[in-house]
Amino acid sequence: MGMPLLSEVKNDPTQAFYICRICTSQIALSDSFNYYYTPETGLTGGVFDEVVNVHVKQSAQLRKVGLHTTVDAYCLGCGNHLGWKFVKISKEDPSVEENMILLPMAKLLMWDGYQMVSAEAT
Ligand SMILES: [Zn+2]
Repeated sequence: MGMPLLSEVKNDPTQAFYICRICTSQIALSDSFNYYYTPETGLTGGVFDEVVNVHVKQSAQLRKVGLHTTVDAYCLGCGNHLGWKFVKISKEDPSVEENMILLPMAKLLMWDGYQMVSAEAT
């Protein structure tokens, strides 16, 4: 199970996937969506285990999200801040794993196999 390539996703229009709301770069297959996560900071997002076109700066500052340590993650297409990558996990909250990505759904749109819809509605 490798990282899905953009061309593969595009070649199968019946496959549901998420895109960047701003530049429409493909971000994640709907299969990569795990669950909604709401750390105590009040921030809510979808936790994904595989994403494409999302990058993390080498010099990124560490940031606490809930009990965990994250770095900011950006869209490769437009540079927009998309969410956070978990880099250090607290054992007190086993709901996420290292290298998972937290993306607020308001930053995304979803192609549901037929049309583009709000990612938040799903
Ligand atoms: Zn973008």
